[in-house]
This record gives sequence, structure tokens and C-alpha cells, in this order.
Amino acid sequence: MRLFFSLDKIYVMKKIYLDNAATTPILDEVIDAMMLVMKTNFGNPSSTHSLGQEAKMILEENRRLIAQELHVSPAEIIFTSCGTEANNLIIKSAVENLGVKRIITTEIEHKCVYETTLDVQQKSDLEVVYLHVNEKGDIDLQELETALKSSDKVTLVSLMHANNEIGNLLDLEKTAKICKENKAYFHSDTVQTMAHLKLDFSQIPIDFASCSAHKFHGPKGAGFAFIRKTTHLKAQIHGGTQERSLRAGTENVVGIAGLGKAFDISVEKMSEFSVYIQEIKDYAIEQLTTNIPGVLFNGRSAEKEKSLYTLLSISLPSMNPLIGLQLDMKGIAVSQGSACSSGAAKPSSVLSKILSEEVQQITTPLRISFSHQTTKQDIDELVMALKDILKL
Ligand code: PLP
Repeated sequence: MRLFFSLDKIYVMKKIYLDNAATTPILDEVIDAMMLVMKTNFGNPSSTHSLGQEAKMILEENRRLIAQELHVSPAEIIFTSCGTEANNLIIKSAVENLGVKRIITTEIEHKCVYETTLDVQQKSDLEVVYLHVNEKGDIDLQELETALKSSDKVTLVSLMHANNEIGNLLDLEKTAKICKENKAYFHSDTVQTMAHLKLDFSQIPIDFASCSAHKFHGPKGAGFAFIRKTTHLKAQIHGGTQERSLRAGTENVVGIAGLGKAFDISVEKMSEFSVYIQEIKDYAIEQLTTNIPGVLFNGRSAEKEKSLYTLLSISLPSMNPLIGLQLDMKGIAVSQGSACSSGAAKPSSVLSKILSEEVQQITTPLRISFSHQTTKQDIDELVMALKDILKL
């Protein structure tokens, strides 16, 4: 069976890439680390011979590195194929194995949390409580506390750290403490913030978190779940005893080597990258405000302390569903929602929850997301292209 296209014929047009919340380019150092493992070690980490044990060492070394950074035990890091799998494992097993009878969450979680919760609800007697989300995309932690106190059902709270469409940040520490005080399990989808924000889980009483390597210049197909040792989740993928029997299947050693390398670089350069990227974001806000009269910033997107520095969500002052395509034709890659929903004709599930009908009908949303490779010139070209398309 042949591929429909030849890989050596794929050529990539020079693009201005402003869709880093969807995925990020893999760093050369990460590719080198993966190539080295690919070329020198094909062993199965479960094999007892030395080739297998070398592969096992690669896994354990990367696990140790990640655990050290998060201030947790290596046994609490379970490698998965992606963030989606990590979130599925946590939510499904919490209901199946921890006796969770109620999930408190929001309607603006990533689809892999939202849909998983719905799926579990259909198959069990689970109660799902959706916290109110205001027009800025905020939840009220007082409402969470009241909901927690209103029932003695075993409860899992699942609230994302940074929203992947509007960038709103949750106060992870405060939320975790409220959950702890009220004896609820706390899960946060940290896919957008892992390796972008400092996370010390020895100071935050969180039970579960998730990570995906491709959001910080690592490969696709590698991620992990942080599972607090005291919680006793069980596998959702059954088979061998890999990953402490929490995730069967031969580990993606090459991908995990890439995940570890990308994590290491991102964490080491976090202060440098975050200052630089915030500067780019500030510049984008200033240029958009000056050049596009009537532009709106969605959620807390334009507020420094309240949103993730890698992401800016805007609404352009006229309705143009083709804008993503028009920008793409000009060599600029942005997103019209999240990557998961932008391929669909449906409006973004997050923006449709926080923007009024009227605003949705007369504006066009765009998600612009940055990395340390983004330049001010990229922003200038985006603004120029937008002015041209909007005829300003
Ligand atoms: N959670 C959030 C907040 C995300 O942004 C994403 C990816 O877009 C995911 C989960 C899913 O991660 P993955 O692509 O690794 O399945």
C-alpha cells in the first residue's frame, strides 16, 4: 500500500505562524534527541535484556526530570499518547474507581474534558454541575465553594488552568485549596500551561493534571497525566503492566525522549521566553487597537495577570467567516477558534458561551497565539493583512 503523496514532495510555504496554541514547531534540539534514540535504541522498555533496559532508562530519566520540575514523585507521572488521553484517563477512572458521583466543571472546558464528562454521565448515575461563566469567561470560586458544600457526594472538580481559546487563567492554588478543604478531588487540564508557567505541585494540593508535548515545541503523540499517588486511579487502556499498570501498551520511547527534551528546554528558558512573548503580545494588542478600530479582545485575553501570555483572542469588527482562509492565502496561519473546532462549521463552543448573540453576528473571532519564535514583524504583517482584508 502506497501513500497518496510522497513525503519528499511536501514542501512548506514560508508561513507566518501565529497558531501556537494549536501546536508548536518542534525545536531542532528536540529532533536531535529523538533521532538519537531512534537510531541508537529500538529496545522495548519491558524487555529484560540490556537493549530493553537502556530504553527503560530513557523513560525513567525523562520521568525523573519532569517530576523534579513539578516537585512530585516520578511515580506520579504517567506517560500517555496526548493530553486528550491523559484527561480521559483521569475523568473516566475517577468515576469508575474512586466512587466519584458528581463532577463540577464548566461548559468552556476543552472538548476532551467536556465530551468525556458527558460520555461518563450517560453511562452512570453521575451528576454534573456546570459553574456559571460570565461574559469575560470567568467563574466565581464562591459558587464553587457553595456547590461543594451543598452535597456530600464524592466529587471531582475539573477546571482548566488556561482556557485554550481565550487564555483566561484560573487561580490554581486557590481552587485546589477550596477543593481540598471540601474533600473533593481536583483535576486541572494544564495542557496550555505546562512548561509555560511555573508549576510546583508540592505547594498546590491538586490531584490530577495533564500535559501534551506538542504545545511546547515537542512532538505530537506524547504527553502525560500527573496522578497524585494517594488517589489510586486505574487503567483505561488494559494489557501489560507498563506505566505502573495505569496505561498499558509499549511506551513511545522516542516521543517521550522528545517530550522530556522540550520540557527541559522550555522550563530552563521559561523566564526569558515568557518576558519576550509577553512583549510580543503587548505589541500585538497595541497594533491591533491602533489599526483596527472596533476590535474587541475576548475574555480576559488582553489583561496581563489574568490571561496566558501565549494567546490573544480577538473579535474583528465585521462578519467574515472566510477570514482564516484569506489570511492563509497570504501565508499567515491563525485560528478562528480552537484547532479542534476551527475545522467545523459550528461557532467556537467557548466564544458562543461568553459572547452575546449580537456580538457573534457582527464580528469575526480570531485566536492569535505566539511562541518565542514569533517576531514583531510577524505581527506587523498580520495587521497589514487584516487591514487589507477588512478594507481599512
Ligand atoms: N486540553 C487543552 C486545553 C488543549 O488546548 C488541548 C489541545 O488543543 C488538549 C487538551 C488536547 O491535547 P492533545 O492535542 O495532546 O490531545
